[in-house]
Amino acid sequence: MDKTTRILIITLGSLSIIIILALVSATTSTTGINSSTNTFITNNSSSIAIPSNTSFSSSHTNSTPTPNVAAAAISSNQPKIKVVASFYPMYEFVKQVGGDRVDVSTLIPIGIEPHDYDPTIQQILNAQSASMLVFNSPGLETWVPKVNAKFALDASNGITLRSSTDPNSHGTDPHVWLDPILTKKEVENIRDGLIKVDPVNAAYYAATAKKFTGQLDSLDTSIRTMLPTCQKKDFIAFHEAFGYFAKRYGLNQHSVLGISPEGEIAPQKLQEVVQLARDLGINTIYSEDLVDPRLANTIAQEIPNGKVVILSPIEGINRSEQKAGITYIDKMHQDIAALKGGLVCK
Ligand SMILES: [Zn+2]
Repeated sequence: MDKTTRILIITLGSLSIIIILALVSATTSTTGINSSTNTFITNNSSSIAIPSNTSFSSSHTNSTPTPNVAAAAISSNQPKIKVVASFYPMYEFVKQVGGDRVDVSTLIPIGIEPHDYDPTIQQILNAQSASMLVFNSPGLETWVPKVNAKFALDASNGITLRSSTDPNSHGTDPHVWLDPILTKKEVENIRDGLIKVDPVNAAYYAATAKKFTGQLDSLDTSIRTMLPTCQKKDFIAFHEAFGYFAKRYGLNQHSVLGISPEGEIAPQKLQEVVQLARDLGINTIYSEDLVDPRLANTIAQEIPNGKVVILSPIEGINRSEQKAGITYIDKMHQDIAALKGGLVCK
């Protein structure tokens, strides 16, 4: 071997080492980028601003459930299951059960109430591309057949819906999500739907659903603890959204508007509500977070010591609540506090 050949071999050997070192360095730094991105999504999520006219995904809140580490290790490298939920409570339930295995967004923007909503072509196409479309009931999201989804899950399947003669109701009262016990059934249906489209993670979905239904049981307990301390059983909701809730807890719902918060109100109906409030000694008129409060204000001005308080039908949340990462459970606790005043509880 001459001198030139020896130099060539040494040079090639050094180059190989440099190339190997460079490859190791690149692999390490790629892993670093991935993990730091994940950390960013998890830790800074609640501060992300979400415009009210856009849907948002589960990575934008900090309440993703993590039932156990072993389950989390099984499929952390799998792509997330894409789920489109019709509106806010469905989104919340999918998020609670789907956790970090699911990429969930809403079809109806979160700051818009869902009654008689008409989806855009883009929203329909987006829902079509999802593994599962979750909706509350055929009478509320009447547009579901138009989507032609891969798998459309009726979350209220198995629940006997109250019939309704309200012309905006399509025959049934959809507001089951305001009853924590019926919500448990919706959560279980969502769990079963997720297991169907993603059976590998069945144990994970079973654990997250169990955790969330436990929270719903606690909610039920706190309502049942409050009610014996209340002087009244009648309340005037803004629209007729609390039928299941009232039935569950032995309360009497009255309302300014019918099954939907949309539509005109006749002066005679307005006068009837004022008279009802006077007759029952009610001074709280409930309004809602996503409607104009002027109608409730007008009624409240006509009754002794009248006041307007928000009692949310939890059909959506406003922009500041979105920014703060307010959950369904948070909203239910706000409603319990609102009813505590109106029902004159201790
Ligand atoms: Zn409603």
